Amino acid sequence: MDSDHFNIPEIHFEVSFSEVQAHYIEVKMSIGKLNQPYVDLKMPVWSPGSYLIREYAKNVERFRSLDKTGNTIAYQKISKNTWRIPTESLDQIEVFYTVYGFEVSVRTNFFDSDRAFIVPTATFLHIDGRIDNPSTVSIHLKDTWASISTGLKQIEAHKFYAANFDVLYDTPIEAGNQDIWKFQAAGVEHECAMVGGGSYDKERLTRDITRIVEEETRIWGSNPNERYVIITHNYQSGGGGLEHLNSTVLGASRNAYLNETSYKNYLSLVAHEYFHLWNVKRLRPKALGPFNYDAENYTTGLWIMEGFTSYYDNLIIKRCGFYDEKEYLSLLANDFNIVLNRPGHTIQSAAASSFDTWIKYYRPDENSMNSGISYYNKGAMLTALLDIKIIAATEGKIKLDDVIREAYEEFFLKLDRGFEENEFRSLAERIAGTSLDDIFDAAHQDGELEYNDYFNLVGYEIVDTNANNNTLTLGITTNKVDGLILVSTVEKDSGAYDAGLNVKDELIAINNNRLDIKDKEMDFIVQHAKEGEILNFLVARDGLLREILVQIRKSNKKVYEIRPLKEQTFLQELLGKIWMA
Ligand SMILES: [Zn+2]
Repeated sequence: MDSDHFNIPEIHFEVSFSEVQAHYIEVKMSIGKLNQPYVDLKMPVWSPGSYLIREYAKNVERFRSLDKTGNTIAYQKISKNTWRIPTESLDQIEVFYTVYGFEVSVRTNFFDSDRAFIVPTATFLHIDGRIDNPSTVSIHLKDTWASISTGLKQIEAHKFYAANFDVLYDTPIEAGNQDIWKFQAAGVEHECAMVGGGSYDKERLTRDITRIVEEETRIWGSNPNERYVIITHNYQSGGGGLEHLNSTVLGASRNAYLNETSYKNYLSLVAHEYFHLWNVKRLRPKALGPFNYDAENYTTGLWIMEGFTSYYDNLIIKRCGFYDEKEYLSLLANDFNIVLNRPGHTIQSAAASSFDTWIKYYRPDENSMNSGISYYNKGAMLTALLDIKIIAATEGKIKLDDVIREAYEEFFLKLDRGFEENEFRSLAERIAGTSLDDIFDAAHQDGELEYNDYFNLVGYEIVDTNANNNTLTLGITTNKVDGLILVSTVEKDSGAYDAGLNVKDELIAINNNRLDIKDKEMDFIVQHAKEGEILNFLVARDGLLREILVQIRKSNKKVYEIRPLKEQTFLQELLGKIWMA
């Protein structure tokens, strides 16, 4: 027991659901052993792993603070997410508030009569400056609800313990009638909690998830958890996932499990989020923990965190035998297609995309394709090159698996701290015995590497199969809204871009031919035009008609394929097998 022990406030939360049908939960926060003139209670403005200021405090209502005899204590709101309560001569207080939650996502509260998905960053207040404070949480289930699924440590029925607020904030809680089953994998107890029904096959999922867990544990060398919870929210149409310390929350479509492609996509999502329990939750850049819950946490390192994870998710699914080589390579080629077909790839690097994720990637708009790229896709491309370069430089003795295992041992298990990118690069170079400057530098630059210089090392090539097609384009995409054809994007440097067609312009006629809602005329006209031909568009913009002359140009669209070289040397063949193993 340390000498500070008696100065640590005791914090207990109770959550109840008397208005849950209207999307409110009630939170009671009891604080004991207080010894300070006032307390500032704060709610985070964001959730780690999802890099957007979400202003969770906007959903807090009916805030009250009471002393132990039940007298109201007047509090003061001193910032958007801070409540100041005078506590001179008070050693305990009780705080009551309600939280509204009706946004379907893996990082926002959702409450209705069937269930409560509790995102702790959006629900529980902490004492300013006391993130290290332990707390307990009691969940008073509705009569009609059967269970609670959470990675929090259970200390009594429906009562949980968090050693500090970093743990509490990283451990979501699902309450309701979710379908739960448990199994052991890699020596860890796993709990699957399926919410919202679905056509899943428990035995098959248990078998397939076990393989993923075993392969990932093998790569990283050890599994830090005793228990891990996979909460899946099944919707008519759903997706996305968020990683946590010893749990994950996934979105899926109820029927995804029936179709081979969407089933494998689900497994790939499991592999992605599970990989994060090491990469980002433990092996991480310095900026990503300890967190500042009050503001943006800036890092260029998401190209490593999300890029490595995006490279490995499908690779692990291949290693588990769910994808064959061709399927896997087409998914990898897709990262190149997504990035290199966005005009923004010439003006935003992977590292810049990471740093500005708060204002760009998480806030996409009609011009996003022209202004940037995703560090997921660009990061995965660069990760593939790293893996290949390391394999080639060591004649197949070392691969990226070995680098990340060493990095995890060094920065997390041994030093227990985040890394600076140059430390990570040095460690990778030491293990690989070669300079990796080219790839790490490319992560911070806008230009592209000569990708075949890498793929050829292992007997593969990346080819644009669309290079000889003379397809023509206007450079726009359209939406049909209420019987109107509206421009939804305008590609940089296209005919439409130069001519000044705008997003939201209503397309009415081309060369005096009225367009019908199916856009058939437009497709027909574009397909039968000549390169360089000028088309006369009649458009309505903000209710006024105008004519705009748009030049038809050759499409730059890339359709990449990654495939084995027709002729390979003995060494290329050997290294290629190691890469694909
Ligand atoms: Zn991720």
